[in-house]
Amino acid sequence: MPAPLMTVQTTPDLPATADVVVIGGGIVGCSTAYYLARKGVRVALVEKGRVGAEQSSRNWGWCRQQNRDARELPMATRSLDLWQAMAADIGEDPGFRRCGLLYLSDSEAEIAGWSRWRDMARGMGVTTHMLDSAQATERGLATGRAWRGGVFSPDDGVADPARACPVIARGIMAAGGTVHQMCAARGLELSGGRVSGVVTEHGTIATTTVVMAGGAWASSFCHQLGVAFPQASVRSSILSVAPGIAGPDALHTGRVSVTRRGDGGYALAISGAARVDPTPQQIAHARHFLPMFVKRWRILRPGGAQGWRAGHETRRRWRLDAPTPMERMRILDPAPDPRALRRIRARAEELIPAMAGARVQATWAGYIDSTPDGVPAIGETRVPGMVLAAGFSGHGFGIGPGAGEMIADMVTGTRPVLDPTEYHPDRFARGSWGKVSEF
Ligand SMILES: Cc1cc2nc3c(=O)[nH]c(=O)nc-3n(C[C@H](O)[C@H](O)[C@H](O)COP(=O)(O)OP(=O)(O)OC[C@H]3O[C@@H](n4cnc5c(N)ncnc54)[C@H](O)[C@@H]3O)c2cc1C
Repeated sequence: MPAPLMTVQTTPDLPATADVVVIGGGIVGCSTAYYLARKGVRVALVEKGRVGAEQSSRNWGWCRQQNRDARELPMATRSLDLWQAMAADIGEDPGFRRCGLLYLSDSEAEIAGWSRWRDMARGMGVTTHMLDSAQATERGLATGRAWRGGVFSPDDGVADPARACPVIARGIMAAGGTVHQMCAARGLELSGGRVSGVVTEHGTIATTTVVMAGGAWASSFCHQLGVAFPQASVRSSILSVAPGIAGPDALHTGRVSVTRRGDGGYALAISGAARVDPTPQQIAHARHFLPMFVKRWRILRPGGAQGWRAGHETRRRWRLDAPTPMERMRILDPAPDPRALRRIRARAEELIPAMAGARVQATWAGYIDSTPDGVPAIGETRVPGMVLAAGFSGHGFGIGPGAGEMIADMVTGTRPVLDPTEYHPDRFARGSWGKVSEF
């Protein structure tokens, strides 16, 4: 029972040339190609499996400013406007609703942290309402209990992970771009040190600009080109229950979070909880990730061998004229953690009594790819013409449209609406990255 995902018919024939090739059909690659196509750029997007089938269909669907790191906040705010405009622009609904996000807690320390964040975000034009005990209890009516406090962010919302990427892929094609599924990019051709083509399993596309938006596969791809990108992924589990329960649209608590899905059912998960499956890449970049793992050790658990077997974090070099790990693993579909699923279910029933007995529709897991500071890596690499856009660290679904628009501006030489400086991957090479994101 993998995560639900709408199917989409894509372009049959690979073009011989393109102005820009985007590698990876997750929310970041799809959004990038979409905004490029809308600018009239000849863009081709290549996806080794199905559009949206990895992280971008496996998430909760939260599109939030609430509790975002200050470095990401402008991108989160911009993305909400872009999500809002998409249904009308594409003529098909990616399932975005500005339903507001609700956070409830009994911990004074947690509530005080949210209050500090509110003060910071207010200076950046973000509205968020602190809730006293009576207001939190009222908003959390479905839980049937009193709360010490909470926060409600009315401008945030959720989009539908089962629809978003396929809908945007149709938007790319309607705007003149091409989308190719079951088409792995094996590597790049360089001329005089800069990008001159993308070698795919179905042929080479001549281009001078490539955007590597391969999610959890980005670092192993970069490694082939001698580009060091410290990236690690953790395995997070989730389950969905059938429609029919009255409850909030989106509620976070420290024990469990619930999100109403596009089909009316609920996605249930524990924020931040994940298994760390060791891989060669993780070992190679361990020193970069130590601060993050130390910070999150309470909620992370050691995993097993499935990450190693999946091949996305290999350190092996591969050839461009033979099948690569990407063709052997079309869709990264890790097994969910049975203990986590039991815990999620029990906590959801404890939180919202009406959940008891609800039919489980599906369970799945996803590898969440992260950078050492929890902020995405976006910018041109030391290979001229190759832009990296990965490491969205558990926040990429919501901010994908803003990232895509910014990258489209960057590669076309347009002055970006958002300032890309904070995201440049060079910060890892320089060792100049700031603190690990709090959220
Ligand atoms: C359980 C879970 C819950 C989450 N909850 C949220 C949430 O509520 N809100 C939020 O904002 N974020 C959330 N996230 C994080 C979010 O899903 C990701 O940050 C985001 O989807 C990353 O998008 P992406 O496009 O970078 O990567 P992906 O969606 O993983 O897409 C990358 C694509 O690239 C393809 N690819 C890789 N290499 C190649 C290649 N060489 N050639 C061709 N194709 C290639 C892959 O097949 C894949 O389809 C969650 C993630 C998980 C797993």
